[in-house]
Amino acid sequence: MLLLEHYGITDPGKVRTNNEDALLAGEGRDETLFVVADGIGGFEAGEVASSIAVDVLKDVEPSRSLEDAIREANRRILAVAKGDERLSGMGTTVVAMRFRGTPEEPVVEISHVGDSRAYLLRDGALKPVTEDHSLVAELVRSGDLTRAQANEHPQKNLITRALGADEEVDVDTLILPIQPHDRLVLCSDGLTDMVPESRMLDLLASFPDNSQRAAHALLSAALDAGGTDNVTIVVVDVKEEDQPAAEESHRGDTQEMKAVASEESGVRLYQERPQSRNARGKRTKSGSLHRISGSFARALAVVLVLAAATTPVYLWATTRYFLDFAADGEVAIYQGLPFAPLGYELNQEVKGTGLNESEIEPRYRDQIENHNLYSSEEQAEATVRDLKDSAEPTQPWSAP
Ligand code: MN
Repeated sequence: MLLLEHYGITDPGKVRTNNEDALLAGEGRDETLFVVADGIGGFEAGEVASSIAVDVLKDVEPSRSLEDAIREANRRILAVAKGDERLSGMGTTVVAMRFRGTPEEPVVEISHVGDSRAYLLRDGALKPVTEDHSLVAELVRSGDLTRAQANEHPQKNLITRALGADEEVDVDTLILPIQPHDRLVLCSDGLTDMVPESRMLDLLASFPDNSQRAAHALLSAALDAGGTDNVTIVVVDVKEEDQPAAEESHRGDTQEMKAVASEESGVRLYQERPQSRNARGKRTKSGSLHRISGSFARALAVVLVLAAATTPVYLWATTRYFLDFAADGEVAIYQGLPFAPLGYELNQEVKGTGLNESEIEPRYRDQIENHNLYSSEEQAEATVRDLKDSAEPTQPWSAP
């Protein structure tokens, strides 16, 4: 019999005041289910979307298909968004995993939408087991970008799939055989944008058999690197029943539980998903992947037009605020992306700043003209404050 020792943690990070991430770590109806969701949307909407996803999955019966549950979460998010204007356009990523199979052939089933990831640490190597549904990941797959370029790309947070974007959602599912000493990690992009995979591996290897300390080490690394986004991490260690658990003092709220479902559930899994029988260890998918080839500029336009066609107002980007001059010359904060491919406007003005073009010193004009993308409205406002502090006074100094 295998046991799971697990620990999940989420943190708003060092820049944002709210936390749009949500997680589930063994508290669901299916105790072997673990979830990370990263919400998107203005005001509180991102938090609402990721919470709905986690709440729906929390209630999932162990016998039910994970993909079905994710589709239900998608519909629930859309329905709630329709009923409340402030939540319009909210969405979320999701990565969910649960442990199935037979005692002889245990497997983990991982389904995801968006750029929250699952990793497997086995025999000292850390492997990503999900492929991001993001603009830059598509461009890496099509050969238009290298992985290194993708990591530095200003649009790396633009995702091409999300829950809440459309009535139908394509879910990718992977069935992977597991063995004792495997460690599985789920995380939001607040970790992977901040901490290179080589460093993640070092930290995970530094705290073997202790999911709590490993999760905290990863979180600390993300915060030390800037913590510009919400960070969520779930670490699950697969252990043999007689393998000693981590020392009590290190384990906090974690609990052990039986990882491997009964033989009955393994049979059920393969009955429901006969296509998985030959696909164990390989990626299975429920929908078509947008394959994009050709030049970077063309690919960019294609993806953005696809995004615009399905979600006219919101873009599934987590870095999606920028500054520009409005028609009257006032500096304004915009939400979206500074593009209008084929006439689709991919942004909208959020608010003016009271700062006029004429007040900006020429050497600071780049701050606006470059359309730097900010991950929050607050970050854009911080730049506006700096610009105001450096602004040339248009009125003569008044005498004290
Ligand atoms: Mn994020």
